Amino acid sequence: MIVASEIQQAASAAADLRAAGTLALVPTMGNLHEGHLTLVRAARKNARSVAVSIFVNPLQFNNPKDLETYPRTLDADLAKLEGEGVDLVFTPTAEIMYPEGMENHTSVFVPGLSDMLEGALRPGHFRGVTTVVSKLFNIFRPDCAMFGLKDFQQVAVLKKMVRDMAIGVKIIEVPIVRDQSGLALSSRNSLLSEEERRRACLISREMNAIREEILSGNRDFAAVVSAARARIDGNEGFRTDAIDIVDALTLKPVDEHTLRAAVLMAVYLGKVRLIDSVAFDLAPERC
Ligand code: AMP
Repeated sequence: MIVASEIQQAASAAADLRAAGTLALVPTMGNLHEGHLTLVRAARKNARSVAVSIFVNPLQFNNPKDLETYPRTLDADLAKLEGEGVDLVFTPTAEIMYPEGMENHTSVFVPGLSDMLEGALRPGHFRGVTTVVSKLFNIFRPDCAMFGLKDFQQVAVLKKMVRDMAIGVKIIEVPIVRDQSGLALSSRNSLLSEEERRRACLISREMNAIREEILSGNRDFAAVVSAARARIDGNEGFRTDAIDIVDALTLKPVDEHTLRAAVLMAVYLGKVRLIDSVAFDLAPERC
């Protein structure tokens, strides 16, 4: 496994891998868990060689405290990737990615989708994501790249970016990996206390309850959301940041043309902000 921290080194190792066949890229921020490793395994199924990037991208953090406390476990991450037979790992610093400073770096921005929902609550977040991912695509020139549906809106934003900019990278979506309790795996889970972690499954439980409510025919989304909010916020330590029921393709409000819906959730448990989502086909309304 080649570990490169310089851009040129990563680019030339990626070029060598591409000369031998297809290359898949898995962009991550490290602190790797089974969710990330599922992306790596999907990458292996889709391409001859697999490259992973580990970069806690400061450009996509709108909250300095979140950036500061983000878990960093590089040695353990590299051991896991070695175990998965990954070919190339890129571990740049912020100075390598943004040598003239973040504020002086060219940015890539997807209008519309980047400013709504999670983007409205985290100003600049998706601009940071699309900027770093397009730079990674230029360094690796992969045939495909894996992204988890845990970050539901991120996948939509990146798909629009490659479509709009005619970037020849296939975006492959990977379903959310959960623990036995239903909690979506996340690097931020390691910031929860043991007790919080035990209680965090409330989020996916409420999310599934919303889905069931909608599937059973309730289309009063405002009422469904406010009841779920009240149930969640009634538990000590929980504070709902957002619950949105949207069209899974456009991320706009569900309308009469919506065939597939998604519930997107962001909930604070203590100081930790957790996100989750579920998409499902809508049964046609009966008259
Ligand atoms: P992160 O390191 O959090 O930026 O995540 C890197 C990639 O792994 C993103 O595409 C995430 O959507 C994906 N990912 C993170 N957690 C999960 C999970 N529990 N299930 C599936 N994909 C995930």
